Amino acid sequence: MTGFVLAYGDDRIPYQVSYADSRKSRVAIHVNPDGSVAVDAPHGFSDDSIRQAVQKRARWVVGHVSEARERYAHVRPREYVSGEQVLYLGRRYMLKVIPTDSTPAPARMRGNRLEVQTAKGTEDDIKVRLRAWYRVRGRDYLSRRIDALAKSLPWVDAPPPFRLLEMSRQWGSCSPSGEIIINPHLVKAPRNCIDYVLIHEMAHLKHHDHGTAFWKLIDAHAGDWRKAKYHLDGLVEILLTD
Ligand SMILES: [Zn+2]
Repeated sequence: MTGFVLAYGDDRIPYQVSYADSRKSRVAIHVNPDGSVAVDAPHGFSDDSIRQAVQKRARWVVGHVSEARERYAHVRPREYVSGEQVLYLGRRYMLKVIPTDSTPAPARMRGNRLEVQTAKGTEDDIKVRLRAWYRVRGRDYLSRRIDALAKSLPWVDAPPPFRLLEMSRQWGSCSPSGEIIINPHLVKAPRNCIDYVLIHEMAHLKHHDHGTAFWKLIDAHAGDWRKAKYHLDGLVEILLTD
C-alpha cells in the first residue's frame, strides 16, 4: 500500500493504492463508508498512470467523499446498552441487556425486544452475543431464501453453497467456483433488499461480470430492484456502526 493525494480545487484527498492480481487493465476506485479512498491498481502500473487515472475521475471521487463524510458525521457508535435499537429484516427492535450470575442463555427475540444475557456485562461480551444471534438467525433465514429463490430462478439447478463473511464494503459476492458469500449484516435490511442481493449474486452463477446480459437477467427476475438497491445504499451506516 502506498499513499497518494488527489488535488481537486481546494480539496486534498489522500488515498491508498494496493496492487491487485485480479486487475488487468484499469484502476478501481473505492470510496469507503467513512470517506476514506482506496484504489486497486493492476501490477506494473506506474505511480504516474495511477495518479492520472484517479485525477480523471476527481469530480466523482470528491463528490462521493463529501457525501460519505456527511453521512458518517451522523453515525453514532453503538454502545450496546438497553434501549438501543437493533435491526432485523428491516424492522427495529429494542435491545435489552440482562445481567446474569449464571451461564448466559443465547440471545433471543421476545416480542419487539432482543434480549441479550451477559455475565461479564462488558460491551464486548454483549456485542459478541448479539453477533452470534445475528449469525444463527441470519444463516437460517438466508438459506431458506436461497432455497426458495433457487427454485424460481430458471438458470439455477440447485441451491448454491453459501457462507457468511463480514465485509466492509460489500453485501455479497459470488466466488468463481459458484459459492455465494453474504455479509451477515445483510439480515438487518428489509426482505426485498435481501432478495435483491441474493438474486444479484445468484445471477453471477450465469454471468460473472456486470455486463448487459447480467442486468437483463436482474431486470427480468429481481422485480423493483432499483428501489431495493437505493435503500441498501442508504443503509451503509449499518456497516459502520456494528
Ligand atoms: Zn455483482
